[in-house]
Amino acid sequence: MSTKYSTGVCRTALSVSKLPGLRYSLNPYVGCEHGCRYCYVPDILGGEKLAFKWGSTVKAKKNIAEVLAREVMKKPKGIVGVSTICDPYQPIEAKLMLTRRCIEILAQHDFPVSIQTKSKLVLRDADMIVPEKFDVGVTISTMDLKLVSRLEPGASLPDERVQVLEEFSSRGVETWLFLGPIIPGINDSEESMTQVIDVAARTRSKIIYDRLNPKRWVMDRLAPVLTKERPDLAERLSDFMRDGSVWRQICLRVESICRELGIKCEAAFPNWPNTR
Ligand code: SF4
Repeated sequence: MSTKYSTGVCRTALSVSKLPGLRYSLNPYVGCEHGCRYCYVPDILGGEKLAFKWGSTVKAKKNIAEVLAREVMKKPKGIVGVSTICDPYQPIEAKLMLTRRCIEILAQHDFPVSIQTKSKLVLRDADMIVPEKFDVGVTISTMDLKLVSRLEPGASLPDERVQVLEEFSSRGVETWLFLGPIIPGINDSEESMTQVIDVAARTRSKIIYDRLNPKRWVMDRLAPVLTKERPDLAERLSDFMRDGSVWRQICLRVESICRELGIKCEAAFPNWPNTR
């Protein structure tokens, strides 16, 4: 899929975040070339129109570094999530370097930064990402290459993401592996989850796990994958997601595998019904 790029300006760089552990979020781009089928950002931002073209349009906030440079002088310090509604290291970042400029400003002004990505491009900024100021999270939903190509068509390969964790962990940066979204019948088998959690064990990373967020356009965009992978489930997945006991069983399995492998583990949203 070819991507249509555009630029725009922003008025705010640091937005107050409601996500656990973050005071702010910073998103240099609107849109994400990774185009993950389960991404719920289109549901949050715009619904049908955006969902239809998700992964094929990206707008860069060309003035974000300048706006941020002003905000860090005025706003109280706190952890900044980079990023929460786009991947900060999606391919266009290689050329525009907006993320790089922003994390440089944040580090200079002692704002702790929590990076989350599915891209090996984050290794480019390893010179700047130091243990005192950064943690790095990498999302791996499955190690199955065929499934990755269907679910996360624009993201780096799982082995490249493993390399990211290895590199930062070896540099003493706190690393975490985001196992999610876990989709019943797709990537929730003991074998699949153990393969991913084993990566966390090898790279001394904490596991943060999360479930599929079955929003309207998520289910719509996932439908072709479900039809290929589990036609028997395609119609019933939404019901599964509403059935708290299914998620509860998955939580217990994740936590049991983590215990066996001696890995710290936590739910991304511990207050989801039936997570505990
Ligand atoms: S990398 Fe994140 S923001 Fe980008 S499409 Fe995938 S889930 Fe959405």
